[in-house]
Amino acid sequence: MKKSKTLIIGAGLAGLSASFFLKRDYRIFEKEATPGGLCRSRHFNGYTFDYDGHLLHFRDKDILNLVQKLMGGNLICTRRNSWINSFGCYTRYPFQANLFGLPKNVIKECVLGFIDAQLNGNVNKYNQTNFKQWTLRTFGPGIARHFMLPYNNKFWTIPAHRLTCEWVDGYIPIPSIKDVLGGTIAQSKKRFGYNAQFWYPRKGGIENLIFALRRRIKNNIHTLHQVAEIDLKTRTVTFCNGRKARFINLISTLPLPEMLKLIPHLPPKIKAALSKLKYTSVFCLNLGVARGNISDKHWVYFPEKKIIFFRVGFPHNFSSALVPPGKSSLYAEVSYSPDRPVNKKDLVKRILKDLRKVEILSAADTIEVCEPVDIEYAYIIYDRNYTESTKTIREYLNQHHIYPIGRYGRWKYMTMEDTILDGKKIAEVLQGDKIAQGCLREK
Ligand SMILES: Cc1cc2nc3c(=O)[nH]c(=O)nc-3n(C[C@H](O)[C@H](O)[C@H](O)COP(=O)(O)OP(=O)(O)OC[C@H]3O[C@@H](n4cnc5c(N)ncnc54)[C@H](O)[C@@H]3O)c2cc1C
Repeated sequence: MKKSKTLIIGAGLAGLSASFFLKRDYRIFEKEATPGGLCRSRHFNGYTFDYDGHLLHFRDKDILNLVQKLMGGNLICTRRNSWINSFGCYTRYPFQANLFGLPKNVIKECVLGFIDAQLNGNVNKYNQTNFKQWTLRTFGPGIARHFMLPYNNKFWTIPAHRLTCEWVDGYIPIPSIKDVLGGTIAQSKKRFGYNAQFWYPRKGGIENLIFALRRRIKNNIHTLHQVAEIDLKTRTVTFCNGRKARFINLISTLPLPEMLKLIPHLPPKIKAALSKLKYTSVFCLNLGVARGNISDKHWVYFPEKKIIFFRVGFPHNFSSALVPPGKSSLYAEVSYSPDRPVNKKDLVKRILKDLRKVEILSAADTIEVCEPVDIEYAYIIYDRNYTESTKTIREYLNQHHIYPIGRYGRWKYMTMEDTILDGKKIAEVLQGDKIAQGCLREK
């Protein structure tokens, strides 16, 4: 049995990033035939779809430089053109800064509530409240009622009072009173939020980032190796194909609940923490439509309950190379969880019906590609058990030199940029041979 200093399980973006930065004495194992995980793309009759919309946003200059270098010229930067559909009309994202176009009584309720909240609320106390209270204190009852609460309930599948605010910082823009007032008389030109612009491959879909990384990693990715068991005593991973591999350090990018199930005899404390991890799933319907420019937008949020999807995106506007000439593509996303199950039997029909209802599709449209993707682990739910449970599990794993990273390993709301950074961070810690618990703790 071969022994490597570091084994990496899962060759999605996190595993590939860790490999890229580790450079030596590691092997990486992946259950699928191809690496990439959620960052793979699929190709049908001249259309390219990612598993769901996958756009790059950068806050870290070094990661932007790295990705630009990796991708050569195959990367374009585009200014976001995103909208909200409610009250039968489209308003620009973010809702709170672009009330222009909504019914007058809605604008009045939103503006008065926002001014009152900003002048009298307790707006920045993320940690001391739940998401519902924070929203009401920060934005007031109008913006809360007409967008924030219905949209987030649809997206997270649980009521806002059960969510904490641990994920909010940096993701929800808080405009000034001046911005909100300005946004009632015209569409705001200001760029709000971390995703005001996005980067995307000119050709071939998001999997080109995976190809670029893979080209730089030595040939030690072992595909079709699904981990069946992790033995902590002998530090051995057993694969479904019967092979075994020993490790000193194990980097796991598998969804945390799935990885823990592979460890026999978990202590009751860890089993209890595991039972408290909550997540949403996303059913994403990818469509290729034989009509040019069905929308000029990049993506649209749908907060209203009567529409089943929470968001629709238009890949043909990310890059024209994703569709055959004169055609369009879109994806519609539906969130579900044990708290809000969906009937999958009728889901495609229901999505198509609602796409016609909101006039994105017309009855005359020919749908050339209809490819659903069901993503079981999509968004980690931050509830009141989140911090304690993840801390307990992480400490237990770290004691055994197992380092969970990536969006589902670390069990954290992470973008692709965060995931690349996470791979870099673990490589730096292990490469320096300073297996310092402090370096691996959450911020
Ligand atoms: C709906 C949705 C939309 C998103 N949109 C964006 C976006 O627009 N921009 C952005 O920056 N990020 C986006 N993300 C986040 C992005 O997908 C993640 O940050 C990133 O892909 C996570 O990579 P990962 O390697 O941590 O996980 P994964 O991609 O899940 O990789 C885990 C790997 O482990 C493998 N594996 C699982 N079990 C086993 C096993 N038993 N044995 C061996 N291998 C196994 C899997 O096959 C997979 O390859 C989105 C995510 C979702 C769900």
